[in-house]
Amino acid sequence: MVRVRFAPSPTGLLHIGNARMAVFNWLFAKRHQGAFILRIEDTDVARSEKKYMIQLIEDLHWLGITWQEGPDVGGQYGPYLQSERLHIYNDLCQKFLKEGMTYRCYCTPEELEERRRIAKHMGKPPRYDNRCRELTDKQKRAFETSGLRYTIRFKVPDELVVFDDLIRGACQFDMSLTGDFIIMRSDGTPSFHFAVAIDDTLMNITHVIRGEDHLSNTPCHILLFHALKQKPPQFAHLSLTMGADRSLLSKRHGAFSISEYRKLGYLPEGLQNYMMLLGWSPKEKKEKFKVDDVVDTFEIRSMSKAASVFDQQKLDWLSGQYIREADLERLVILAIPYLQEAGFVSTDESKIDLSKLKLIIDAVRGNISCLSQIVQEVDIFFKDVVISENHVEFLSSETSQSILSAFYMELQKLNTLSPEIFKEVLKTVQKETKVNGKGLYMPIRIALTGREHGPELYSVANILGINTCKTRIERFLLVKNK
Ligand code: GLU
Repeated sequence: MVRVRFAPSPTGLLHIGNARMAVFNWLFAKRHQGAFILRIEDTDVARSEKKYMIQLIEDLHWLGITWQEGPDVGGQYGPYLQSERLHIYNDLCQKFLKEGMTYRCYCTPEELEERRRIAKHMGKPPRYDNRCRELTDKQKRAFETSGLRYTIRFKVPDELVVFDDLIRGACQFDMSLTGDFIIMRSDGTPSFHFAVAIDDTLMNITHVIRGEDHLSNTPCHILLFHALKQKPPQFAHLSLTMGADRSLLSKRHGAFSISEYRKLGYLPEGLQNYMMLLGWSPKEKKEKFKVDDVVDTFEIRSMSKAASVFDQQKLDWLSGQYIREADLERLVILAIPYLQEAGFVSTDESKIDLSKLKLIIDAVRGNISCLSQIVQEVDIFFKDVVISENHVEFLSSETSQSILSAFYMELQKLNTLSPEIFKEVLKTVQKETKVNGKGLYMPIRIALTGREHGPELYSVANILGINTCKTRIERFLLVKNK
């Protein structure tokens, strides 16, 4: 059975690049009816924080990603927090030490740093020179009695490590160029390499799907799998996501953390869909799809070797599509907090006119890509409109005046408005003024909303209601026309 894992380190907010790794692991597990496991790599005590773990679990849930095993749901291979597995790493470290696969290294961080500096200066690779591998018993005793702290290093054999990456094809690493690496830090916590290889072994992981930035770590992990007498899993290193300027994706490119997208009111299904387009596309090349529509066609081997480019505009376009077709009641519930914050609706939900809100949101949903944008679209329904000087001038022109007064006269004959009645009114005004198209409704639109663009005019008029429409038009009727 296929078993894959997403193994984030809780050292910050879940970013789109990292969340994308979770999405593809999840997709792969779904495709092969396998298990998707969430493992939290929190052995870096100084940088890991529980709040980030809680947030990332929440963010993944929000994105609609589900897992069968993890710190919150348990599972037969737990615990799923590395900080709760320290005894496992310790026992295996002792075993490795006894079997002569590792040794104690007494080099201090300062010495190592100095040697790296010199190597760099001489144009050599900054690898560890394995000097503690050959310590005599006497030297070891001297270090021990001096109380020096030590790390445990793995003896890297001089060999070629070869593997077939599912995306990148044959990969080969000459390990004679790699120094012996640390598996246990001097504080007794495991290194990243050691914990990953042990956990992937004990959790029976069959496929490791992760970012290309981990490619150079893989040969170290393969050596550890061999030392653990475990057949290495299959590897798939996904190309990373870049900004349009080809540098690694960051906030600078407009990419936010998942929780920020959530706060901005993006819909999770849109974000999830967009992440699946980064480095992959379904056979029919369609861009808008649900995971269940494409899962059967997902082949990890067909993922792009080239970096994907994050495109905020495309994300906004896609997200807008989802907003257009979302259930209206859901959108209303999601939009209320933004409208409350803007002071447009009551903080007491029982006082909100939900049917009016539904009309408003339905009228503007075509113009937004996330719900926070609703505030600037709907202010025309909640506040008095401010008309710029240019617009006042435009509304004072002879044509505008004849349209506004004809429109006003028609409104005077009515007690109520509906989209249908409004359309009839407009027809009459058109006949009377002989103006049509944009020329006809622009003065009305500007007088009603203060803007040249916005939702359909019949929806605007319908939502504002007859009295507000009259008052807003009245203000621009010059005395002679009133
Ligand atoms: N904890 C690692 C990271 O956040 C993931 C390691 C892996 O997937 O093997 O980059």
